[in-house]
Amino acid sequence: MELDERAEDLASDLGVDKEEVKADLQNLVEYSVPIDEAVQSLRRKYGDGASGGSETPSSKDVAEITPEDSSVTVTGIVLTAGKRSIRYQGSDHVIVEGRLADETGTIDYTAWEDFGLSPGETITAGNAGVREWDGEPELNLGESTSLSFLEESLEVPDQIGGDAQLADLQTGDRAVTIEVSVLECERKTIDGRDGETDILSGVFGDESGRLPFTNWEPAPEIEEGGSVRIENAYVQEFRGVPEVNVSEFSTVTALEREIDVGSDTATMDIGDAVATGGVYDVEVVGNLLAVRDGSGLIQRCPECYRVIQKGQCRTHGDVDGIDDLRVKAILDDGTGAVTVVLDDELTARVYGGTLEDALEQAREAMDQEVVAETIRERIVGREYRVRGHLSVDEYGANLDAEIFEESDDDPAARATAFLEEVDA
Ligand SMILES: [Zn+2]
Repeated sequence: MELDERAEDLASDLGVDKEEVKADLQNLVEYSVPIDEAVQSLRRKYGDGASGGSETPSSKDVAEITPEDSSVTVTGIVLTAGKRSIRYQGSDHVIVEGRLADETGTIDYTAWEDFGLSPGETITAGNAGVREWDGEPELNLGESTSLSFLEESLEVPDQIGGDAQLADLQTGDRAVTIEVSVLECERKTIDGRDGETDILSGVFGDESGRLPFTNWEPAPEIEEGGSVRIENAYVQEFRGVPEVNVSEFSTVTALEREIDVGSDTATMDIGDAVATGGVYDVEVVGNLLAVRDGSGLIQRCPECYRVIQKGQCRTHGDVDGIDDLRVKAILDDGTGAVTVVLDDELTARVYGGTLEDALEQAREAMDQEVVAETIRERIVGREYRVRGHLSVDEYGANLDAEIFEESDDDPAARATAFLEEVDA
């Protein structure tokens, strides 16, 4: 039969085991791949007789690249290209990171040489290394990569350039462009890798939400109350949430326009929010199921400000605790649950009294648990809309509330709001 003969020919051509080739061929043909195309595909797979692997590896579509490939030749259009300085084996390197696309998909790349990549250019990278990152393949463009720029531009469905909204940014994003309002900004002196250095840190906001930032080389345009356009920023995780990093390679320009911060902030399902691993600014709506222990009137260590039990701090031993108010409550919307943490002000509001009132109530009852009990009676079983910072760790998800209000309990209004969201 033909398949058998073709397999034999191929196996001797490529110098590989006949049974293996035959099995592969059979597989492809069963998936309705025409025999000639199947043979071509196997020639590519087995390297077309190239024994040492020193020749240009086979061309692949982006979607075909897997972490098992050691190197590939790939043609694509550069979607983003961002410079970043990293310390590698003891010295500083400037690398370029970004995303490449063809008609079949997108792939992240890191260029270790300055190839002069910029968004919108179509390139062929010959002998690009492939490495695995987080289960996905990534391209390494280095010394042994031959890079050529093509005249003809590829048509891809993806957006060229890194324009993004804060709510869409995720840890690992590179070369992003954002237009934001500087909501908070402070100058700090830190111990950097080359000694003491000044940085800016604070919070950016745009229509979609807010994110914290660090500016490693203070840009004069970044000041509280101003609006800026930032090109070539990258996103890294810090304390459980994504953070915008503005580096020496970022371009910062002051903007004239006002930015309407948070006007488009989306409400998320708790399950989806928790699955992101951390969101700086999120709104959820759910039922308050329980007020956890350690709520109401509590005492904190004067040294480390952690909550203490019976005057004992785990780190500082016997201490004279500071009285405080807080709530840790479980909020559930059917898709997931978070522990909502209310600070002293929000706690006073749901308690309906001040810290003084709480101390007085505890003294009269000779039990400080009465404060938590009062709060429990007021909030358990009701539906709340909570906005704040969500972080996830090994113990679960915490939502540090900035806004905590009873959700309007009108199902018709909620349905209308939902439809508007769907329409938009
Ligand atoms: Zn302490």
